[in-house]
Amino acid sequence: MRLIILGAPGSGKGTACAVLKETYGLAHISTGDIFRENIKNGTPLGQEAKSYIDQGALVPDSVTIRMVEDRLSQDDCAKGFILDGFPRTIAQAEALDDILTAKDTKLDAVICVVTDDELIMDRVTTRRVCPSCGASYNVKYMPTKVEGVCDACGGEVIQRSDDTAETVQKRLDTYYANTKPLIDFYAARGLIVEGNNNVSSEECVAQIEEGLKAKGLN
Ligand code: AMP
Repeated sequence: MRLIILGAPGSGKGTACAVLKETYGLAHISTGDIFRENIKNGTPLGQEAKSYIDQGALVPDSVTIRMVEDRLSQDDCAKGFILDGFPRTIAQAEALDDILTAKDTKLDAVICVVTDDELIMDRVTTRRVCPSCGASYNVKYMPTKVEGVCDACGGEVIQRSDDTAETVQKRLDTYYANTKPLIDFYAARGLIVEGNNNVSSEECVAQIEEGLKAKGLN
């Protein structure tokens, strides 16, 4: 199964992906995670991406598209994938079409996670992550057992530099300006499957699984 997951930053895409990749045996490709890994390792790609990410702006298409093309060529993507955080612009969506056409494949569905902005602002500014093992926490809703210490690996738990209120607002503005038109782009092809994450991630995932089933995907 070849999927995209769309949704505003902090809408709950990552949580839904963690479930969906297990259920359907998919490679989970998060462009944000790939950029952060490169920043952590100090690679040239990471150095180029950092200034954009810190401002809540998009990394240029030329850099991002090449990175995704490389990732989709890896063996684990042959059995199916879920793209999280890509495409974010129409130009990226068109480039993805070309990449998939060259591989003689196409998308099966585009998942759209819907969450109200006020909920996003609350959830993201209280989010904390462990850079060592990638575990995610929330000071209000899912705190670590010991403050600032990762339950899973004992590493230091931090706030992502782009999870501050000011940057989250910029990321939401960027999303509405650039990414929301993608929903119309894929809706015209009848590919959209919606999950509402205002109540709980369990309910959101259940809706998505129903929607995929209705398209004959399981
Ligand atoms: P995310 O973790 O998906 O919210 O991504 C974090 C940041 O990485 C974004 O705010 C962008 O600066 C950058 N980024 C991730 N994916 C893309 C993309 N497809 N195109 C451009 N920039 C991206």
